[in-house]
Amino acid sequence: MVQSSNTAGAKAPDFHIDPEAYDRMYAESINDPAAFWGEHGKRLDWIKPYTRVKNTSFAYDDVSIKWFEDGTLNVAANCVDRHLATRGDQTAIIWEPDSPEDEALHITYKELHSQVSKMANVLKSMGVGKGDRVVIYLPMIPEAAYSMLACARIGAIHSIVFAGFSPDALGARVNGCDAKVVITADHAPRGGRATKLKDNVNQALLHDVDDVKCLVVKRTGGQIAWRDGLDFWWHEEAEKVSAECPPEEMNAEDPLFILYTSGSTGQPKGVVHTSGGYLTYAAMTHEYIFDYHEGDIYWCTADVGWVTGHSYIVYGPLANGATTVMFEGVPTYPDAGRFWQVCEKHKVTQFYTAPTAIRALMGKGTGPVEGSDLSSLRILGSVGEPINPEAWNWYNDNVGKGKCPIVDTWWQTETGGILITPLPGVTKPKPGSATKPFFGVEPVILDDQGNELSGATEGVLCIKDSWPGQMRTVWGDHARFVSTYFEMFKGYYFTGDGCRRDEDADYWITGRVDDVINVSGHRMGTAEVESALVAHATVSEAAVVGYPHDIKGQGIYCYVTLMDGVEPTDELRTELATWVRTEIGPIAKPDVIQWAPGLPKTRSGKIMRRILRKIAENDYDSLGDTSTLADPSVVDDLITNRTALA
Ligand code: ATP
Ligand code: MG
Repeated sequence: MVQSSNTAGAKAPDFHIDPEAYDRMYAESINDPAAFWGEHGKRLDWIKPYTRVKNTSFAYDDVSIKWFEDGTLNVAANCVDRHLATRGDQTAIIWEPDSPEDEALHITYKELHSQVSKMANVLKSMGVGKGDRVVIYLPMIPEAAYSMLACARIGAIHSIVFAGFSPDALGARVNGCDAKVVITADHAPRGGRATKLKDNVNQALLHDVDDVKCLVVKRTGGQIAWRDGLDFWWHEEAEKVSAECPPEEMNAEDPLFILYTSGSTGQPKGVVHTSGGYLTYAAMTHEYIFDYHEGDIYWCTADVGWVTGHSYIVYGPLANGATTVMFEGVPTYPDAGRFWQVCEKHKVTQFYTAPTAIRALMGKGTGPVEGSDLSSLRILGSVGEPINPEAWNWYNDNVGKGKCPIVDTWWQTETGGILITPLPGVTKPKPGSATKPFFGVEPVILDDQGNELSGATEGVLCIKDSWPGQMRTVWGDHARFVSTYFEMFKGYYFTGDGCRRDEDADYWITGRVDDVINVSGHRMGTAEVESALVAHATVSEAAVVGYPHDIKGQGIYCYVTLMDGVEPTDELRTELATWVRTEIGPIAKPDVIQWAPGLPKTRSGKIMRRILRKIAENDYDSLGDTSTLADPSVVDDLITNRTALA
């Protein structure tokens, strides 16, 4: 076993996997997936053990994915009950509130068990049963985890909607799955400001779905409008029910949740994940990729409103009996040192965040990081977008102090868990590369005609065979599932992402296939140009898209956010264009650079290039689905400045 070079307090544990184990286990997982997963499925407690492990087909006319199909289990029992005997008094969830002035909570597995059971009984009393849908519209508070696990306990299917989404987006999702109950809070404090969640729910439910019941968590005690007979306070209902609720016996293939994708490329898709395969995959990836050990304090900064929060705040860590941190706030409140203060305060060992957060904090300089003791950290993670080498190096040097392996984890809402990633103790770091496939994952790179390319190459990323965490269908629209993921390249799962494989067989995500730019016949991923821009000392963030160009076919249009305090001048514009030209080559020289004080992002922090493409094309009338935008005013601002530019 390889010894960690970490010098934090106690001796760091050995890594779970070493290079020899990786090669052996990877080969086993590809050569005989049924045997491999049959073994690893045993990490869960099954009520009735499975005898059939894998029954999957990617054939276009017969797409069907089933794992452990004759086994039964309960996901909540696996995340809570089975830990009671050995770790009932261990902290399951550390809750860090929005304001550092408020007290953090430490919730033990015993308390988690009683809260989840009560919530399950309350949901039952509101008429929710096996197979019914429950929408969860909550801030990052422990009740979000209770709600998810309470649904799982009684076999109800949850669909979480970001607390930052508008009443319209919420209404569409409540309607979309015909939810019986919405779980929400009075107000949601975030970054020192409160969103009136319950009012949003009222507005969302006003029209077509006005008989939907609502369970309301009192978070702030703020003013809300009440619907008599339909609204119930969680704290009042909890008093009336027992703290025991027998977990429902569920089939491995019963749906656990519906979750909409981020909407970066178009209309969000209602992704359906099931129980046995999903939990096996979430738990195993969590343990190996974050090198999780007994006693670790693991923190993923995502929101439970996106898939990272599902798999790597709640289901994976809790299935492993871990201590998981839930953070209600934002990285910059009350100041840009908050993440690091929380790491120090709770002695966090694994820290998992998104490139967008790293870039934002990078823009604030190293002062805020230096203010905190980060010696407890052992592993750092990144997810959501390609992480440009500049941000990777900043993260490595200033947060990891050069001692923490960084796992750049590539995956999607659809994949349920991480598919391509470095493994601590195994992988040689390469800033910007997601490196190697996880066990059971067979990535392939195809050309536009669907031919598999070998060796060092670049093309479309597809996956050759199923893995247990894969989505099973689009809610209520199996045809859309088949046409989105299996039609374009027959026999493969199509990821929608472009990818390069280098001489060491390491994978580099180059951006969305839709985002590839073709300049005078040269194909270019947007990530490359963006990385070059961000590598300039004055640039904090950049987004690049193609636009119609008379001579070149497509020109390169760059939106650039400057570091705090940098003056946007014409000289700087010329300097940046020359810089990209020298960094990548003459073909990559930007045609237009527009200063962008903000970029349009999804609520999970991803840049929506499809909107930027429309602005670059001077086409403002068909911006497409904007319901998942974090801040719509950013778009108006960019349009105004685009006009000034033209
Ligand atoms: P939609 O599918 O609705 O357009 P989305 O793809 O943004 O939205 P998610 O499932 O949240 O929804 O995001 C998955 C995508 O995020 C991946 O397909 C990839 O483009 C990007 N991504 C995630 N992690 C990484 C990573 N480590 N490196 C590069 N890209 C990543
Ligand atoms: Mg996607």
